[in-house]
Amino acid sequence: KIVTRFAPSPTGFLHIGGARTALFNWLFAQRHGGTMLLRIEDTDRARSTEEATAAILEGLSWLELGWQGEPVSQYECAGRHREIAQQLLEAGQAYKCFATPEELTEMREQAKAEKRPPRYDGRWRDRDPAEAPEGAPYSIRLKAPRDGETIVRDKVQGDVRFPNKDLDDFIILRSDGNPTYMLAVVVDDHDMGVTHIVRGDDHLTNAARQTLIYQAMGWDVPVMAHIPLIHGPDGAKLSKRHGALGVEAYRAMGYLPQALRNYLVRLGWSHGDDEVMSLDQMIEWFALEDINKGAARFDFKKLEALNGQYMRAADADELTQTLLETLPHLPGGPELAERLDDSRKEQLRLAMPGLKERAKTLVELVGASEFIVASRPVPLEEKAAQLLDADAKALLSRLEPQLQAVDNWAPEPLEQVIRDFAEAEELKLGKVAQPLRAALTGRAVSPGVFDVMVVLGRDESLARLGDQTK
Ligand code: GLU
Repeated sequence: KIVTRFAPSPTGFLHIGGARTALFNWLFAQRHGGTMLLRIEDTDRARSTEEATAAILEGLSWLELGWQGEPVSQYECAGRHREIAQQLLEAGQAYKCFATPEELTEMREQAKAEKRPPRYDGRWRDRDPAEAPEGAPYSIRLKAPRDGETIVRDKVQGDVRFPNKDLDDFIILRSDGNPTYMLAVVVDDHDMGVTHIVRGDDHLTNAARQTLIYQAMGWDVPVMAHIPLIHGPDGAKLSKRHGALGVEAYRAMGYLPQALRNYLVRLGWSHGDDEVMSLDQMIEWFALEDINKGAARFDFKKLEALNGQYMRAADADELTQTLLETLPHLPGGPELAERLDDSRKEQLRLAMPGLKERAKTLVELVGASEFIVASRPVPLEEKAAQLLDADAKALLSRLEPQLQAVDNWAPEPLEQVIRDFAEAEELKLGKVAQPLRAALTGRAVSPGVFDVMVVLGRDESLARLGDQTK
C-alpha cells in the first residue's frame, strides 16, 4: 500500500510551493488507492508556532487535500530519534565526537581558505572515547562510508550520484541531546511507513545523507521524487511579488480552490496539452514520471485566466454560496456582508449568472456586487461619472417616462422599450445602455443592464434613475 507524506515546517504559512508539494503527494496517493500522512516538522522550537501549524492545516483543508489520521509532531518523536541514534552507536554505525566548537570553527575556516565546502575530518571516527576529558560534551556522528558513491534513485531526477567522500560524518544527535533534522526525517518516515517521498529538489543532497542512515539501519529506502522548485515568470527564484505567498493570500485575492489546484498541478507536471482538468482526471492521470525536470514558472496572469474560466463554468447558485462564505476573507467583503440582508442575498443570487461572466476573481465579484447594496444616491465611479454628462442625463430623462410605463418588469419587455427608444433617438443601443448602467450601478461595467434592472426591481431602478435626471 502506498503511503506518502507532506512534511511542512510550521515556521510560516502554507506557501504556494508547499501547497503544490502537498497536492502532488495527495494525487499520487489517490491515484494508487493509498494515503497521505501529515507530519509537522516542528523541531526548530524558536521558529515553529501554533499559528503556522493552524494556517497550514487550514490551507490544506481549503484546497481539499485531506490527510489521514492525526498530524504527527516531529518534536514529540525526539525520544524515538535518540533511541535510534543510540542503536547506531551500539552497532558501530555511529560514534561519539568530542570535537570542541573551536576545533569545528577551525575546520570550517580552513575549508574556506582552501575554497572547498566544509566537512568534518573524522578525527573521532576511530579514536577511543576514553581519551576524551571526563564529562566532556559530545555529539553522535554517522560513520559514513568513505569510498564509493551513494546513489539516489529519483523518479524525477533519475539516478543522482554522490561521491561518499563529499558526504562527511554528519551529526545525527547534537551534544545537547537533540536529534538533527537528518536523523528525524529518516526515523519518522520509516516509523510512519512512508513508501514514497515527494518533496522539493532543494532536499536532494539531504536525500543522499538520509540514504546513508537507511542503509546503516538496514531499512528500505522509500521511493523518492524531488520536484523542481517554482520560479517567477522571469525565471528567477520566486519572490513575494511573483507569488511566493501563503495559500490564504490566494484565497484573499479571490481565487477558487479548484482553480488554484488546477493551476498548481500544471506547475511542473503535465498531461498532454490539457489545461483544465477535473479532480478525477488529475487523479487518473497523475504520474511521478511525468513531472518535469526544469523549474516551473509561476504566472499570475495564467492563474487569473484559469480562475475566470472556473467562475464562468461554475453553477451560479453554488458560486453565490462560495462568495458568501468567502466574504470574510476578501477585501471589502465584510462590509458587503454587513449590508447583504436576506432580500439582497436573493438579489445577488439573481444577478450571479450575469456577474460571473464578467469577473475573473471573487474580489472582482465583490466589486461588481456593490451595486446591489449601494444606497442612494449611488456613488459614481470615475468612468461612470464621465458617462453621465449633461447630454446623457437629458437622454435618460426622456427615457424615464417610457420605463415608468412598463407593466411587466422583465428583461424582454425592458429590452424592447429601450431598443425602441434608441431607434427613435437614432442612437445605437449602447449609447443608451451605457449611461443607464452608470446611473443604476455607479459603474461602467456590470451585468447586462436589463438584468440589472430586474435584479434591482422596478422601484429601486426608477428611483436610481431619477437621482441622476432631476
Ligand atoms: N520540512 C521540510 C520542508 O518544509 C520538508 C522535508 C521533507 O519533506 O523531507 O522543507
